[in-house]
Amino acid sequence: MYPASFEYHRASSVKQAVGLLAQHGDDAKLLAGGHSLIPLMKLRLAQPGHLVDIGRIPGLSGIRVEKGAVVIGALTTHEYVASSPAARQSLPVLAEAAGSIGDQQVRNCGTIGGSLAHADPAADWPALALALDARITAVGPAGKRAIAADEFFVDLLTTALRPDEMLTEVRFPIPPAGSGAAYAKHVHPASRFAVCGVAALLVPGSGGTCKDVRVAVTGVGPKATRAGAVEHSLDGKKPVADAIAAAAARAADGIEMSADLQGSVEYKQHLTCVCARKALERAAGAMKA
Ligand code: FAD
Repeated sequence: MYPASFEYHRASSVKQAVGLLAQHGDDAKLLAGGHSLIPLMKLRLAQPGHLVDIGRIPGLSGIRVEKGAVVIGALTTHEYVASSPAARQSLPVLAEAAGSIGDQQVRNCGTIGGSLAHADPAADWPALALALDARITAVGPAGKRAIAADEFFVDLLTTALRPDEMLTEVRFPIPPAGSGAAYAKHVHPASRFAVCGVAALLVPGSGGTCKDVRVAVTGVGPKATRAGAVEHSLDGKKPVADAIAAAAARAADGIEMSADLQGSVEYKQHLTCVCARKALERAAGAMKA
């Protein structure tokens, strides 16, 4: 199918892109890597009258480490993150998760900003953003604001971004020394999207315990979400096999799931617990004394 006709704009700055969004309102869409939006337009599930190409705006691509955080520009591709020495050194789980996205072509074109803004229920970045307590920077006509990942994912394909705002970067705080983080994903065999993905972060506490446990799940419900029951179960305990198994068994508690082409609710609940156990085991293994 061909998309409905639209007017194409190539923005050369964030200010210009945001101005076009403000001017055309709901009739405008930003275009980054196009790997989510173009398929939707071809299916006519999205029919924007104005397409604002942000792909050539300078300064929005790349990774820097500053003030205790890994900061990733909105236009940074998944492949760039997957092969980034800065990501691998400072927060290796980012590179690990990015390398699991789609295939090579998807990773070469798709961007972290597009993925977070699109908020596909099976996307990987939302789980990472939640588990790692990311801050998302949005720029609109009124200026810049930071949105905590916990506040960002509102519903299916819906975020806290306003229609005239553009996501410009994502800030992942580098966890305290000795922390372990991991991402476990059950991959859809055709698309490589997450049928279920669980991201986990364990921070070392006293006497071999872990604290500030953060676990987030994607793929099984309308939006990525924190797995609070797992977090409470493991917080303050030693991350040994029994404690991890007991915590992971609660991974589906309180998480909204519905049956679909991927499987029944029972299957998704089971998968969530399995992925949570894998993520927690790997995160515990990555902790350093
Ligand atoms: P676009 O498609 O250009 O835009 C997506 C949406 O976000 C649009 O509504 C657009 O207006 C908006 N947007 C884009 N950038 C911004 C911004 N900076 N600020 C505000 N709004 C913005 N994803 C995964 O997570 N895991 C997978 O395994 C995976 N597999 C895939 C397999 C296939 C075959 C395909 C086609 C896609 C797959 N994806 C997967 C999705 C892919 O990662 C997309 O690239 C990504 O979700 C969207 O990024 P994009 O740059 O292509 O955004």
